[in-house]
Amino acid sequence: NRLSLMRRIDELLDEREPGEGVASALLLIDLDDFKVINDSHGHPAGDRVLEVIGRRLEGGVRESDTVARLGGDEFAVVTTGSVDEVRATADRLMQRISEPVAVGGRRFLVRASIGVVFAGDREHENADALLSHVDIALYEAKARGKGGVVYIEGSEREAAATQVRLREQIAQPDLSQFRIVYQPVVDLATRQVRGVEALLRWQHPELGNVPPDEFIPMAEHGGSIQRLGWWVLESVCRQVAAWSRQVPRHRLAVGVNVSIRQLDEPDFAVRVLDLIDEHGLERDQIILEITEQSLARDFENAVEVVAQLRAGGVSVAVDDYGTGYSSLQYLDRFAADVVKIDRSFVSNLVANEHTQKIVSSVLDMARALDLQSIAEGIETPEQLDVVLRLGCELGQGYLFSRPVGAEAIGELLGA
Ligand code: C2E
Ligand code: CA
Ligand code: CA
Ligand code: CA
Repeated sequence: NRLSLMRRIDELLDEREPGEGVASALLLIDLDDFKVINDSHGHPAGDRVLEVIGRRLEGGVRESDTVARLGGDEFAVVTTGSVDEVRATADRLMQRISEPVAVGGRRFLVRASIGVVFAGDREHENADALLSHVDIALYEAKARGKGGVVYIEGSEREAAATQVRLREQIAQPDLSQFRIVYQPVVDLATRQVRGVEALLRWQHPELGNVPPDEFIPMAEHGGSIQRLGWWVLESVCRQVAAWSRQVPRHRLAVGVNVSIRQLDEPDFAVRVLDLIDEHGLERDQIILEITEQSLARDFENAVEVVAQLRAGGVSVAVDDYGTGYSSLQYLDRFAADVVKIDRSFVSNLVANEHTQKIVSSVLDMARALDLQSIAEGIETPEQLDVVLRLGCELGQGYLFSRPVGAEAIGELLGA
């Protein structure tokens, strides 16, 4: 149905009289958590609710506008009018969707996310670009929390185009564009290097360095995080083995970030253990870092996989501690080896006594649970002073070293 929608969009673009202040816009509407309705009551309820929503959308736009059901629980609307009118239309449609739907004696509450993109002039516009950009807007809307509208217009279109390109490329990653850098983890009292953290870098041929905070979520969404993740783990193991050969007296531990999605893979723990053994490393030389925020997404499975990993001798760190749920019970059941105190606390430490108290209690808790603590993102001597005074043993940050290439780490170790 996307094809006929594209044809219809193209027609509309052709028909459009380029008047002052008149815009055409494409709205993509996705019902949030709609599967729940379908699953719990069999298919009929879901389909009938969708019919009702479709009719409401028809009733909420002009006759000259187009409403199309895209399959699943997605609808597309093509509308024209001033920018304000388009915004009013989106609000009106949201309102209409939110009113309870009565089907078969039951009432259903439906929520939606809406992405909106304004069409440019005919010369530079095509249905294909509009559709992929509206996808980005919808993706944004969902990411920001359900039940919202996100508009993409003007110069944002270019940024959206880049996003589309990056998402396509990361779905089939060209691994030759990726490399791994390493940031030392130091003993705060002596500044001696006690380990490193592996950080992935994407050197894009046209866009330069794309930050992992941007591409990792895309890889998670696009399904390539597992492939990337194995590549990282394999490369790190190979590198650690090389360091051990260069500097035999050093037995460096390396933190490797893993996405919670990687833990879904069948036999994840077994494969990790095998990989470590194949490279002749000690199991505890690899510390898998999992962010606290992501834990909430799939806690039960994570607990199980982490138990398998730790039973096999691999260490596990809770990353970005303090940015997520942060309950004590959580940490107790999760049974990690290391807790990494998020950079946002460290950057507030000097000015804010309240933050000092929080960090101090996190450190107490870590000691009570027999966890190692690492303070992240130490940038200034003042921050170092406070962290040391609070009793934290390990840390990393620009004050000691930025992430650097593997060779520089080798030199640091005395190769
Ligand atoms: P993270 O695991 O919390 O990694 C620490 C981030 O803080 C890194 O950013 C590092 O370069 C940065 N950093 C270190 N010291 C300082 C400092 O003193 N000041 C400031 N301002 N920043 C500092 P980076 O490399 O951009 O990575 C961002 C995030 O991307 C990581 O946060 C991690 O969650 C994720 N990531 C990176 N590599 C991988 C990977 O291989 N797999 C997965 N799943 N995620 C990764
Ligand atoms: Ca949906
Ligand atoms: Ca990390
Ligand atoms: Ca972190």
